[in-house]
Amino acid sequence: MKNIGINKQAFIAGEVALVGAGPGDADLLTIQAFRFIKQADIVIYDRLVSDEIMALLPSACEKIYVGKKQAEHRVPQDAINQLLVDHAKLGKKVLRLKGGDPFVFGRGSEEAIFILAHGVACHIVPGMTAASACTSYAGIPLTHRQVSRSCTFITGNVQDNGALDLPWHTLNDAQQTIVFYMGIKSLPIIIEQLINAGRDKNTPAALIRKGTHADQQVVKGTLSNLVALVKSHKIKPPSLIVIGNVIDVFSTQQMTNLGYFSPN
Ligand code: SAH
Repeated sequence: MKNIGINKQAFIAGEVALVGAGPGDADLLTIQAFRFIKQADIVIYDRLVSDEIMALLPSACEKIYVGKKQAEHRVPQDAINQLLVDHAKLGKKVLRLKGGDPFVFGRGSEEAIFILAHGVACHIVPGMTAASACTSYAGIPLTHRQVSRSCTFITGNVQDNGALDLPWHTLNDAQQTIVFYMGIKSLPIIIEQLINAGRDKNTPAALIRKGTHADQQVVKGTLSNLVALVKSHKIKPPSLIVIGNVIDVFSTQQMTNLGYFSPN
């Protein structure tokens, strides 16, 4: 771990900074992320990084897009790893910019292991993860006394064999909030398995698409009707699925007073 945790130091030529850009709204960048973004010679970035954040890069900064869509891997992970090391070894300040937090479903730790194994120093700059920021902007607290005592972040992405093999029996507590990342495609099976595991079919459930962006969409229902709502609202990735009684903590009237709905 010798080369990790040096964020207070300057971004030096020949180093990589793995930076979390948060879920979209540039106001949610950390000051540390902003400092690294401003110094980058080259950025290697994903689909989830918003245009608003890309606009903060220095004008001379070289840009390489390696974004992925589900089932359409544009640049293989091995090639991304190699790009990071190659550009660092050319003596550049390499910014690896990722949506949300690099260490939450972001493969950031895999990239850091590769970078460090090749003798290149690597800064890790945390970002606000989608589950936290998108729920706030949708007026949903992740926990609430006597309503939710735990919160689980879980991936709805299927394994290479097409199965969605999750520990369903650990997801059946009525006082537990569940946030699924990458779950839209698997939504019907997720709902079926949660109900089989003992979750009440009237449990509130919500979808947040493009959370914290100006065109954020929030759709609320229950486990029973969420699949139909996805179809009728044509919800696509990137979307989060949130399940639990916390969704109903604020009344509609209170929500309009929260002020989250006009990020501009
Ligand atoms: N590292 C990221 C997650 C990457 S996995 C983070 O910490 O947030 C990609 C998934 O994150 C998407 O499929 C979606 O489920 C979720 N996601 C990321 N940004 C989002 C956003 N602005 N709105 C809704 N979901 C988002």
